Amino acid sequence: MSVPSAYWTAIVDNDSAYDDKFFYGVRTTGVFCRPSCKSRVPKKENIRIFKDGRLAQAAKYRPCKRCNPDRQ
Ligand SMILES: [Zn+2]
Repeated sequence: MSVPSAYWTAIVDNDSAYDDKFFYGVRTTGVFCRPSCKSRVPKKENIRIFKDGRLAQAAKYRPCKRCNPDRQ
């Protein structure tokens, strides 16, 4: 699935307005984050979008230690 451009912009801008609207997993690291996470922005082609943190964990992604996307 390609990354919607609004989501990509939210990731690049660390836009917290999108937190809890979606999460993104990074294929190369196996970690998932909130849009507002301050970690380095991954390559767009390595991003996988999830609507829910549980779905990311079900897909074997680990929650990021910086943005704690598994906490409500
Ligand atoms: Zn993160």
